[in-house]
Amino acid sequence: MKVLITGGAGFIGSHLSERLLDRGDEVYVLDDLSTGSIDNIEHLKDNPSFRYTIETVMNEPVTAENVDRVDVVVHLAAAVGVRLIVESPVRTIETNVHGTEIVLKLADKKKKRVLLASTSEVYGKSQAFPFTEDADLVMGATDKGRWSYACSKAIDEFLGLAYYKEKRLPVTIARLFNTVGPRQTGRYGMVIPNFVRQALANEPITVYGDGSQSRCFTDVSDVVGGLVGLIDHPEAPGQVFNIGSDFEISIRELAERVKALTKSTSEIVFVPYEKAYEEGFEDMARRVPDVSKITRLMGYQPKVSLDEILQRVIHHQSTS
Ligand code: UDP
Repeated sequence: MKVLITGGAGFIGSHLSERLLDRGDEVYVLDDLSTGSIDNIEHLKDNPSFRYTIETVMNEPVTAENVDRVDVVVHLAAAVGVRLIVESPVRTIETNVHGTEIVLKLADKKKKRVLLASTSEVYGKSQAFPFTEDADLVMGATDKGRWSYACSKAIDEFLGLAYYKEKRLPVTIARLFNTVGPRQTGRYGMVIPNFVRQALANEPITVYGDGSQSRCFTDVSDVVGGLVGLIDHPEAPGQVFNIGSDFEISIRELAERVKALTKSTSEIVFVPYEKAYEEGFEDMARRVPDVSKITRLMGYQPKVSLDEILQRVIHHQSTS
């Protein structure tokens, strides 16, 4: 199979590229390196089945050329990370909405199969735990910048499903829950790479708020397994699937876990949200996926435990 991965030089995209190459696919990457990095794909460059173009998906002729070459498009290119979203809201909205519009329009011209990466952020402030794919989405007010990310990805989902319904374009939506692993950068606020970096440097570990908020973290290898399964499955198009793990941990406990595993002397400090992000910032108190839909479809089961995830990130940061 020939697969185009937009955002293929990003953290998840580079791991997906690796997996597809390993099973004999041809991989085309399109990435503008805005949050991705050439280092992430350096080790793939010599593989004759791997090609990459450094360009934005907003460049329509270049994206068209790449879409035309492949059988499947995996659209991962997006503005990502809560810090980036709060700091650059215009870029977030434009990249997420316009980029997806272009990818879907071009894929539709040649009826290429599409897998759109969405996010657990779309569940917003919903209290209906665990989150199921058909549950209501609960967004905050439009003057709270964070929710522009959720809304922009929700629009992507609407558009993808509209293409499926109206034009019979085979589009599948994957909602990814807090994905972690080697090569993820802490630069855009992601908690685990940040905590590990702080702990290894024996610097204060910064817990935002009171640390009672919780998340379920998934290793990138488990997420990639889910994505590959959705690329292949004939019944996936037209549907939305959560991909995640249901092991829940509070951010305070996470800080303690990272400190213990790194044998760090770091102090754990609590930083008010308005200092960490901006005045009036709203966090999601909990985020827990129901993954039974993708499990029923293809037997999906996350295999990597939280301690193993943390060990892998610690190892990666200690050796790079
Ligand atoms: N967080 C934290 N310290 C950090 C970075 C993040 O306490 O240095 C918190 C953040 O406020 C959120 C959780 O960790 O409650 C997960 O944040 P992340 O940005 O990784 O992902 P999110 O779930 O918010 O998309």
